[in-house]
Amino acid sequence: MDNDTRVLLGIEDQNIKKIHIIKEKHQIIAEAVLDYRPKACPKCGIKNDHKVIKYGWRSTNVKLPRVSEQDVILHLKKRYFKCRECTSYFLAQTSLTAKNHTISRNTQFSCLEKLTEAVSMRHIANELSISSTTIIRFLHSYERDIKTHYDWLPAVMNMDEIKSTKDAKGTMSFVFMDGVKKQFIDILESRTIRDLTKYFNRYSKASRDRVQVLVTDMNYTYPKLTEKVFPNAVVVTDRFHVVNNVVVGFNQTRIRVMKRFAHSSQEYKALKRYWKLLLKPNGELDFINYRKFTYVSDQTTENNWSKPYWVSIKNLITLMKHYRQL
Ligand SMILES: [Zn+2]
Repeated sequence: MDNDTRVLLGIEDQNIKKIHIIKEKHQIIAEAVLDYRPKACPKCGIKNDHKVIKYGWRSTNVKLPRVSEQDVILHLKKRYFKCRECTSYFLAQTSLTAKNHTISRNTQFSCLEKLTEAVSMRHIANELSISSTTIIRFLHSYERDIKTHYDWLPAVMNMDEIKSTKDAKGTMSFVFMDGVKKQFIDILESRTIRDLTKYFNRYSKASRDRVQVLVTDMNYTYPKLTEKVFPNAVVVTDRFHVVNNVVVGFNQTRIRVMKRFAHSSQEYKALKRYWKLLLKPNGELDFINYRKFTYVSDQTTENNWSKPYWVSIKNLITLMKHYRQL
């Protein structure tokens, strides 16, 4: 019973015990106690070797998210503690609510989620049975994370694209961050040069002039930004994208070479089977131990396995080079 109620009311904190419902008409009223043994005193930090003693209870009311269209109030009895070291008093804390708050975090989260919908604040307030002033207060407390400040940009900016969710304008979204502090700055629905120019032009001229380095992939879009938007910036392709492109290019070439051979040939099969070995850095290859490789008759080492195919593959690559020059 206790656990069912816990799941129903969305109480995850295991320090909240003895949960039971005392009234379920018009609104649900539940009772519970919050009790645990603190590891240390939060005021002076002393380890709790019988230094922190239990010092009675304090009653609080916590507003939980609605269940079956009914308001839920939790009468929560919180343990009060006294520290014998610094003679200070403190209250048991729970992850259910933020400190000194009576509205549960879950209600806060559903409030923020509802704020993304195009509905009035009063509507949200009614749905969650909280006041509009509370909603405005929540919104202000998250302002730092939500609001974009158009008067500052970092000197080093990392830009990339990520796959969008279905409701976004384009299939790929644009994301950028502070390359020095490694902090996320903003995300845009679109990555077209037109939208990006429009967006970045909202920033002040001084902040755009401050940008010195744009770190990006090899996309042709971003260098164009430097001309109009970031006149003092240079574009740098980051190591990840360089390595990634080399690997992709190498694999494409390998497959192209492979396809020149018959599917039944040993060359075809070996190039297909040992693709990982071909990507292995020289320093990591095993030069010493001889073993048997499929499609190679004698035992050989990792660095030597492809030797029997060298002649034919090398000829083919040279041939392809000439072919392309024509
Ligand atoms: Zn203390």
